[in-house]
Amino acid sequence: MRIGVPAETAALETRVAVTPETAKKLVAQGHAVQVQTGAGVAAGATDEAYRIAGAEIVDAASAWSAELVLKVRAPAPDEVRLLRPGATLVGMLNPFDAEGLQRLAVAGVTAFALEAAPRTTRAQSMDVLSSQANIAGYKAVLLAAHHYPRLFPMLMTAAGTIKAARVVVLGVGVAGLQAIATAKRLGAVIEASDVRPAVKEQVESLGAKFIDVPYETEEERECAQGVGGYARPMPASWLQRQQAEVAKRVAQADVVISTALIPGRPAPTLVTEDMVRSMKPGSVIVDIAAGRGPVGPHGQPGGNCPLTVPDQVVQVHGVTLVGHTNLPALVPADASALYARNVLDFLKLICPKGCAAIQVPLDDDIVAACLMTQGGEVKRRA
Ligand code: NAD
Repeated sequence: MRIGVPAETAALETRVAVTPETAKKLVAQGHAVQVQTGAGVAAGATDEAYRIAGAEIVDAASAWSAELVLKVRAPAPDEVRLLRPGATLVGMLNPFDAEGLQRLAVAGVTAFALEAAPRTTRAQSMDVLSSQANIAGYKAVLLAAHHYPRLFPMLMTAAGTIKAARVVVLGVGVAGLQAIATAKRLGAVIEASDVRPAVKEQVESLGAKFIDVPYETEEERECAQGVGGYARPMPASWLQRQQAEVAKRVAQADVVISTALIPGRPAPTLVTEDMVRSMKPGSVIVDIAAGRGPVGPHGQPGGNCPLTVPDQVVQVHGVTLVGHTNLPALVPADASALYARNVLDFLKLICPKGCAAIQVPLDDDIVAACLMTQGGEVKRRA
């Protein structure tokens, strides 16, 4: 099969869907891999490295016209036109982008969005949300350390003692857990909050303190269980009590890393402007939910904090707010390496070794969940 790897064109995107490592494996399976000139350069993969792996370096039109096109991000409207009818597209296509999916359906493309894979043990090796969130959590802490005008670890020196930084992590999914682990390695003292009770044990096992907000009603308890491992919007009563507890911790914190997301909905507001005002000058908020929250006072979608500005670092009330919307792209080589392995594992389901054409086994729960468009129709399940 002819597999195309076009260069990513989304702003600030540096990742690539196929690395020389995975290109070599695809070539060994008998596929012709065609990589657009320069597609891997930002991720440290040169055209020469792809050639050595057995891939061919081609222009954009050739890469887009393959039978199977592998991408990191969804194609722009003018790129969809480069796909041939009947082609298969695999990438992070945003299952909630109804317009984008409709465009792919109209183009006659069979499209798979890897973010829609279930969070099950069998799907772990192709779980792009986890592989990329893990990197985001790590990079968020490094950025916090970079912008924080003090040190993270406690230091006892001949010139005096430096206190350890106090870090508050809001939302403890994959990114939050990695943020805790990374901040811990840097010597910070960490507290964390999440709606899901299952998280408490994980937080404590990493040496951080869980901010307990007990459930007072059956509705609160039930909502907190989430669905499919994901959070559901919590009742206002619980959110108010959580906000009161979080506010106390944020006022004491030197660094806040916020990662709270609810699939298909705007990110919840967890750090209000009043909380930012209460923080010490020089404190840092790294908002991993940047660009995914309600529209803030600056007229753009904020994150878990409405003051966060997408893709900017701003100072408000003496606090530095870091709003990168694509943290994995700041670690492009490893983000691509993990993403490309996720893609390779997914291909085993739709293109098993020796197959000449793409298969769509709908009895496979991962394939069925990721299938977004087929036969001119949007297939995404609600
Ligand atoms: P996510 O990115 O969707 O959300 C990040 C975190 O924000 C979640 O922990 C969520 O509970 C939390 N959150 C939402 N609203 C909040 C609020 N108001 N206050 C505080 N926290 C809030 O999550 P994710 O990292 O994609 O993980 C989602 C789930 O998938 C988790 O249960 C995780 O353990 C699970 N998971 C399972 C597997 C697997 O079994 N293969 C792999 C990875 C993740």
